[in-house]
Amino acid sequence: MDAERGPVRSVLSGALRRSAAAPDGRSPSPARPPLPAPRRPAAASWPGSQTAPWILMYHSVAVEEEDPYLLTVSPERFAEQMDWLHRRGRRGVSVRELMRARAEGRAERLVGLTFDDGYADFARHAVPVLQHHGFTATAYVVADLLGRANDWDAEGPRKKLLTVREVSELAAAGWEIGSHGLGHQALPGLPADLLATQTRESRRALEEVVGGPVTGFCYPYGAVDLPAALAVRDAGYDYACAIAHSPLTGRYALPRCYVGDRDGRWRLRAKRGRHRLRDTVTELRRSLPAARRWPVR
Ligand SMILES: [Zn+2]
Repeated sequence: MDAERGPVRSVLSGALRRSAAAPDGRSPSPARPPLPAPRRPAAASWPGSQTAPWILMYHSVAVEEEDPYLLTVSPERFAEQMDWLHRRGRRGVSVRELMRARAEGRAERLVGLTFDDGYADFARHAVPVLQHHGFTATAYVVADLLGRANDWDAEGPRKKLLTVREVSELAAAGWEIGSHGLGHQALPGLPADLLATQTRESRRALEEVVGGPVTGFCYPYGAVDLPAALAVRDAGYDYACAIAHSPLTGRYALPRCYVGDRDGRWRLRAKRGRHRLRDTVTELRRSLPAARRWPVR
C-alpha cells in the first residue's frame, strides 16, 4: 500500500521519505533523518475530517476484582460499547482493514478495534461479541510470552495470555494478529541492534505462528520515538499503533483512544469528540513555525 496516497500524513512519513530503505531491506545508514520543514496541513483529508480514523484501545475483557491499571472491561460493558457503535452505524474493524479502507477512501464509518497484550480472554469474551456484530479486530500479542502471563506488570492479577495454538486459530479465522514486541519492553532508548531484534524477531516468530504476513506493530506502553518508528518501518511493518497524538502521529504512530470499564455511551461520545480535536490540534501544530510547534514540556 502506498502511504503517500493515503490520508494518514505525518511528520514521520516525511522523515521516512528522506531515509529510503536500503535495497536489501536492511536499516538505512545510521544517520537519522532530520524532521522535515513545516508543511501546510492537508485540510481536506485529515484535520477534523469525518473520515479521520478512530481506533479504540482495549486490553482485557473479563470480570476482575482487582484492576490497578484500569485495563479490564467487563464482558457486559464491552457488549454495551460494541452495541453503541453498531447502533450509530459504525463498524469495528482490524487496523489492517482500516488502513486498507482508508487508502481506498471508504473508511468513513469504520472504527479500529485493538486489543493489546494478547490476553486469553480476548478469545473467550471479546470474539463472540465482535462476531455477533460482524466486526473484526486486531490482537497485538507479545511474541516471546505466548501461553504465559503478564509478568511485566508489577501489580494486579496475573492474567493468562493466548497460547501459540490459540493465536494460530484466531489468525486462521481471520482475526488480525499484530506484534507487541518480544517481551513487552518499551522501545525508546534501546540501542539500534535491540530495536531491530524487538521488531524483526517478533515479526518473524509470529509469522511462523500465523502462517502468513504480520503487518501491524503496537508499541509496548504506547511509547514511541523516531528511532523506534524507523525500526518498525525497516522491519517491514505496514503500520504501527501508539497511544497519544504527537509530532510522530501518522502511519507508524497511530493514536488510539483508551476505553475503560467506566466508558458508557456518553463518555464514548465525548472521547470521539476529543479525538477529533486532538487531530485538529496536531495538524495545526505542524503548520506552525518549528519553534512554536511543540513546546518543550
Ligand atoms: Zn502492552
